[in-house]
Amino acid sequence: MDYLCSECSVQLSKFEIQLNELYPVGKLYCEFCQSKHERKIIKQIVDNEKDMHNDYTRDLIGDKK
Ligand SMILES: [Zn+2]
Repeated sequence: MDYLCSECSVQLSKFEIQLNELYPVGKLYCEFCQSKHERKIIKQIVDNEKDMHNDYTRDLIGDKK
């Protein structure tokens, strides 16, 4: 059975299949898409924390009269 990347449908190498078995993310990704997704997830986490920080700062400088 062939394993295809669920993003770009490229055929996965044996090494990439092993990677997916070691770090299961629910979908099969080739090395390229895997790292692309990791960056996206990291960016999402960073953005979320930025939002939380903005809310916190807004509370601090909010009008308290
Ligand atoms: Zn891919």
